[in-house]
Amino acid sequence: MHRTKVKIAEDALDANTTIANANRADFDRHGVGVVNFMSAPGAGKTTLLEKALGGIDARVGVLEGDVQGSADADRLAALHLPVVQLNTDAGFGGECHLDANMVRSAIPDLPLAEIDLLVIENVGNLVCPAEFTVGEDARVMVSAVTEGEDKPLKYPLMFRTCELVLINKIDLLEHLDFDLDKFLYHLDAVHPGVEHMLISARSGEGIEGFRDWLQRVARRAPAAA
Ligand code: MG
Ligand code: ZN
Repeated sequence: MHRTKVKIAEDALDANTTIANANRADFDRHGVGVVNFMSAPGAGKTTLLEKALGGIDARVGVLEGDVQGSADADRLAALHLPVVQLNTDAGFGGECHLDANMVRSAIPDLPLAEIDLLVIENVGNLVCPAEFTVGEDARVMVSAVTEGEDKPLKYPLMFRTCELVLINKIDLLEHLDFDLDKFLYHLDAVHPGVEHMLISARSGEGIEGFRDWLQRVARRAPAAA
């Protein structure tokens, strides 16, 4: 019984990988670098994107994943970027993550020929988004200092599968008991040597470094034919 359940889960992930590869081929064909941007709810993903994408030296589009509503997409559309809303309650059972099939359904709405970088803001959740590749080049996650220093130990897969960890709300450090050294020690335990940046959407600290990093992903994609 249990074994059968495990088998079904493996088949579902295999199917996801097949669709993710198809997404990847579409992105590559258009020379678009793709970032899967993840965090717990309220860690500050949208606010960081507002700051980092304003003034970026790349043509950027955003795919905004939410269970429902378009509040975050509306905020990012104010930057005059192409933003496509993907709601998981519209035909995807209200899932708490994006998977490759959901992203595939949005591809016809994305102006891939006109962008160099696609940022996919995933649904706020530290568990299942880490299990589903969507065809991205890079994964970034945000962990806010308000979340506590044990997060890497509690959600190791998320921290392990990202190539950049943004430690956000760093301006609040002096008001919290958060032990940054302890967090970094835990981070290194689950993902040795992973790149991290101390950042604050509020004060602007670290925003330029994140913007530069995004520009490098935009240039990493194969040149359009
Ligand atoms: Mg958001
Ligand atoms: Zn989920």
